[in-house]
Amino acid sequence: MEKFMNTERDVYAELGVKKIINAAGTYTMVGGSRMSERTLSAMTSAARSHIVIGELQARVHERLAAITKNEAAYVTNGAACSLHITGAAAIARHWNRPHASLAPEQTAKCEIVIHRAHRNPYDWALRLLGVKLVEIGFPNSILPTTAQDLELAITENTAAIYYFFMLPGGWLSSGALAFKETLEVAQRRGIPVIVDAAAQVPPVENLWNITGQGASACIFSGGKDLRGPQASGLVVGRKEFMDWVGATAFPTYGVGRMFKVGREEIVGLWSAVEEYVSMDHSARAVWAEKRIAELGRAFQDSAILSVQRVYPNEAGQPMPQGIVRFKAAEGLSEPISSRVLRLLADGNPSIFTVAAGENGIFINPMTLTDAEFEIVTQRIKEIEKEIEKETRGGQRQK
Ligand SMILES: *Cc1c(COP(=O)(O)O)cnc(C)c1O
Repeated sequence: MEKFMNTERDVYAELGVKKIINAAGTYTMVGGSRMSERTLSAMTSAARSHIVIGELQARVHERLAAITKNEAAYVTNGAACSLHITGAAAIARHWNRPHASLAPEQTAKCEIVIHRAHRNPYDWALRLLGVKLVEIGFPNSILPTTAQDLELAITENTAAIYYFFMLPGGWLSSGALAFKETLEVAQRRGIPVIVDAAAQVPPVENLWNITGQGASACIFSGGKDLRGPQASGLVVGRKEFMDWVGATAFPTYGVGRMFKVGREEIVGLWSAVEEYVSMDHSARAVWAEKRIAELGRAFQDSAILSVQRVYPNEAGQPMPQGIVRFKAAEGLSEPISSRVLRLLADGNPSIFTVAAGENGIFINPMTLTDAEFEIVTQRIKEIEKEIEKETRGGQRQK
């Protein structure tokens, strides 16, 4: 038993799991973001005692609603689960009875309107509901969706309109009806709008602006930039709709029971959002600009690579990001970006990021500390030398 008495542990060392530096941003596959010590301590504190979950939810949801300037809030175990639960709530609301009491045929009759431009890998959470997804428009800019397209797609079976919210410049296709116009149609027809804004903070104002404009519910991932627990999600919205969410989600029986959210996550996300709304976001943006500018200066004389600043980043967030671009090298058996990613991953410490096309890699300051940024810069310098030497060697051979 003695070996289990140590409370200060390095679990990754115990397990032989490699720690990495995350230079990609809040990617879930590497653990999203890091919680603050204060949030970790809130979670530990929550874990130590039993409480009645319903009472804890009531208190936390009340506070989350207040600090995010919403009528109501709900903590789930992820943005994807939030999408499923808000969809289920919309179906229950449509029939005006508890979701668990509905026959499959009643669900199958329901429709959720979605722009083709908004289809994405996370919409499995909607597909699994068993409703009909009614697609409108095209995912391009030749013929953008019109208000009439949306009007005509709404029928007596429409339970909700799904909207993917992202600032221009992110990875989303064009072609959808503007958010404001979507809300106008929805309001006129009395249809709730459910917004997926999982990664759409920053800007912090999105926590209240999207619902403030009239969305019934807006979904955020707790484990991305909010820096809550990885397995947490936040839904904010109008009380009338959110009451249906509460009646459908954990700890009720029915579909919500599959999406258990622990007291540690409930408290952890509350703590994280508290910190997020009081953080100096403009100072952070200035810091990020400075880091990207420094990265550019570190390689300004390089013969084989250059640093490009992109804004907004690929998630559409108003934060600068760097792309380290290598001059096209001919005769390589693989894209240079794959090679550089592998060299970064194989280094010590191991660095994770993602490719920006065939000859570039992203360096996202959002998940890096100053010390880590320095390590990443130095490692790229080493890789630069290595590739430069090889290229010269290659030319000599010709
Ligand atoms: C990350 C993401 C999700 C899923 O968030 P989780 O909290 O990991 O479940 C859903 N939708 C979009 C658009 C996302 O970027």
